Amino acid sequence: MSWREMLRAEVTDDQQLIKHNLKKPVSKPSSADCADIADRESKLNVSKQREQKQSHEERQSRLMECLADACKGLEITPMEIHKALSPDDIKEWESGDLTLEELSAFADLLVDRRSMDRGERPDHFTEKAHCRQCGPVYLWISGTVLGCPWCFNRAADRPIPRPRSVRCGECCHFERVSYHPHLGHCTMGEPEAVAGLWDSDRRYCLRYIPHPQQSTNVPTGATEAKTKS
Ligand code: SF4
Ligand SMILES: [Zn+2]
Repeated sequence: MSWREMLRAEVTDDQQLIKHNLKKPVSKPSSADCADIADRESKLNVSKQREQKQSHEERQSRLMECLADACKGLEITPMEIHKALSPDDIKEWESGDLTLEELSAFADLLVDRRSMDRGERPDHFTEKAHCRQCGPVYLWISGTVLGCPWCFNRAADRPIPRPRSVRCGECCHFERVSYHPHLGHCTMGEPEAVAGLWDSDRRYCLRYIPHPQQSTNVPTGATEAKTKS
């Protein structure tokens, strides 16, 4: 038998097979079977969701325990640290890339930041420095810096404790009067004499912000600070 005949025979057989299948009645699944499958799937989903919730709660509980350790001796609660953590930070903690030491350092920073927001100097900011944007500031290093943590206060109009007195005449909140070359008023409402403020008088002022041209004037003897790594 040639391959053509063989092929024809196979085609014939296939056609017969197709015809046979078309004639064969299709058996419908019973509605009871469908309901059973749907019920099993729904149970599986519920159990999967329950497991996911349980594991999320367990991870949260372990994270809160870790945060409780991180904030020991500090004026901050685990929940406050938790709120400050980003979803990426939490993922890093879950994968073990964020250690307890790092969380403790982060808690320390948050405590410092809160004091600074109130205009209070953190205990370790003991050096007299000069920020080109904020003027004289307390930092953990001395010398001159281009920007500093107090810049956040400056941007948010919060007070900045000063290590030395400043001159109103060099402050951007000083508004000169038209009738006198040295007198002016404070637009921040700081206490002043009836006649106003004398531009060259020195005072300790938490609201002082240097004029841009003053901020670039580095005090005599100040050196460019080397930032701590
Ligand atoms: S903010 Fe302070 S330094 Fe500036 S003008 Fe007012 S009182 Fe003077
Ligand atoms: Zn600054």
